[in-house]
Amino acid sequence: MTSLEALLKEGTKVLEEKKIQEARLDAWLLLEYVTGVSRALYFADPKKAVEEEKAEEYRKLIVLRAGHIPLQHITHQAYFMGFEFYVDENVLVPRQDTETLVEKALEILENQEKPRILDMCTGSGCILLSLLAMKEGASGTGADISPLALKVAKQNAKGLNVADRAEFVESDLFLSPFFAETTGKALPVYDILISNPPYIRSAVIEDLMEEVKGHDPRIALDGHEDGLYFYRRIVSEGSAYVKENGWMLFEIGYDQGEDVSKLLEKAGFRQVQVIQDLAGLDRVVIGQKPHR
Ligand code: GLN
Repeated sequence: MTSLEALLKEGTKVLEEKKIQEARLDAWLLLEYVTGVSRALYFADPKKAVEEEKAEEYRKLIVLRAGHIPLQHITHQAYFMGFEFYVDENVLVPRQDTETLVEKALEILENQEKPRILDMCTGSGCILLSLLAMKEGASGTGADISPLALKVAKQNAKGLNVADRAEFVESDLFLSPFFAETTGKALPVYDILISNPPYIRSAVIEDLMEEVKGHDPRIALDGHEDGLYFYRRIVSEGSAYVKENGWMLFEIGYDQGEDVSKLLEKAGFRQVQVIQDLAGLDRVVIGQKPHR
């Protein structure tokens, strides 16, 4: 029989050899995933024996991770704002950096009762759904071009127990009939429009790490030639769906603060502000829609 300790060491070594960034942490998380032994319990008895069947399963998952498959694609779990989300190859794996965006939204919504939230390019739904889970009475819409992503988002809405306050729309940005003014139906309007759109410049996608370029959906990453394509379209076409004095909030790449601020300012948004993430990098831009 192999011990927890021996498996952890063995797995860490395999991952290190394949240059996996957080080798020991990932070996640990896979060990926890397979055996159910938390890191706290591990320290109580690192010599505890692991059944051979479990040890073999662990070794298989280590081989997958050594092939640079993201940990979250192996376990189908991702943690965001303290909630667990189901993820697969149809959605961008939720990033901790994006919590900065959600925290800013919570601040803006603090004194609002029953706010309505529009999440463009919702993917796994992690932004919209964590907001709904943390803000009682809030409701909203998640839009995405990918029906497979929306399937994941709907599953997560159930998982977080907010399915009754979330609706999902398949739409190429604002092109679906849902966003159109049709007979007897006004445009849907929201207190905030929030989005983490694809923003990587097409030419540099190849430079990203294998876990990202090889496994996150390309349509969730590619912001076209200058990386700003989706900001441009969301600012110009999306403004109609934001209430007066409502806000637009974007996640951005570290070098896009100025460009996205300018887009919002040119469209007449006020109080435009760039906010940094925990690493001190520009990560979020917000602006308030003026009243007429
Ligand atoms: N932050 C992601 C990355 O590191 C990109 C996400 C996006 O394009 N919205 O690759």
